[in-house]
Amino acid sequence: MTPAIINDKHHTNYINRHKSLISVLLAAVALFGFMNLKAIDKTWTIVIDAGHGGKDPGALGSFAKEKDITLNIALKTGDYIEKNISNVKVLYTRKTDTFLDIKERAEFANRNKADLFISIHANWAKYSSIRGTETFVMGLAKDQENLEVAMKENEVILLEDNYTTKYEGFDPKSPESYIVFTLMQNIFLEQSTNLASYIQQQYKDRIKRTDRGVKQAGFWVLFMTTMPSVLTETGFITNPDEEKFLSSSQGQDYIASAIYRACRNYIEEINKKSGISTAVRTDTIATVDTLAISAKESPGIKFTVQITTSVKPKEVKPENFKGLSDVSEILVNKIYKYTSGRFDEYSEALAYRKKILSLFPDAFIVGIKDNNILPLQEALKLKRNQ
Ligand SMILES: [Zn+2]
Repeated sequence: MTPAIINDKHHTNYINRHKSLISVLLAAVALFGFMNLKAIDKTWTIVIDAGHGGKDPGALGSFAKEKDITLNIALKTGDYIEKNISNVKVLYTRKTDTFLDIKERAEFANRNKADLFISIHANWAKYSSIRGTETFVMGLAKDQENLEVAMKENEVILLEDNYTTKYEGFDPKSPESYIVFTLMQNIFLEQSTNLASYIQQQYKDRIKRTDRGVKQAGFWVLFMTTMPSVLTETGFITNPDEEKFLSSSQGQDYIASAIYRACRNYIEEINKKSGISTAVRTDTIATVDTLAISAKESPGIKFTVQITTSVKPKEVKPENFKGLSDVSEILVNKIYKYTSGRFDEYSEALAYRKKILSLFPDAFIVGIKDNNILPLQEALKLKRNQ
């Protein structure tokens, strides 16, 4: 759907809107904080994604291919996790040398209700002197260097069939395309950053790799996942020492054990929090359970894009919404909320939000159930539990 722009007569004061949006977002974040408390006996699902594969070799060193390094490390990482952490199910996006779309990787994790998504890669640089490890979370690249890593990793999209339609016209090689990520809602930022920090810490302290830190950039594979996700660059294939290290069985073991230990720390940390807080947060936990049960009874979580709010009702017609049709009004605590579009899948809502961002720069995604607005995090959780 392409929204027709009529004309922007009502130039609204976005700052005032922001205030209410921010409080809604904060509420969503707070709720997520509670919802993410895991019971100690919970089974964790960790999806390990070996970057590239098949016709996409990834970055090339003097003798090694990124796709082989990532696969070996992924399999070893999964092995360590399964053998050493109880209550964990490990799933792999690929276990052999096969090509997979970026979208398929993310959808695999979403479909399997993963609790963590870890995408494993090896880095590339113009100069062979550049070395070190870095781990990315989804966000806006703060400098050219980070943007370039994302551009390189997103380039695989060009090998996919119908990539222009699948990724909404996104051009991985054009910096302008990355504007889509500027107003994204990374509701998993904190969890993702925690895991990324644990990974970098392990690389640095336990296996003495050069630490380039935790960074943010716009990776499609992270953008499309609906759980805490990281993309780890395990070293530079263009650096002779690191190429040798990453290609050796021992080097791969070291990297894999570092990622495994980081996962263990992450899970322990959440279990610890959960154990400590259970007594005081019984109410909230009960609410979460109730929500999960009601979702099972009546499926039908949809996603929509909230475009604006008003204390007075507006007539729902395209002229009042910058030409957008498909607008619905939902009254919540005396505030009229206006949403546009209804989608079964979060990724569809993401794509739609991108389309209308120029009209409604503050638009954000929420869940809808029985014509009630749900914070996005809650909606994703219910959807996963369906
Ligand atoms: Zn890669």
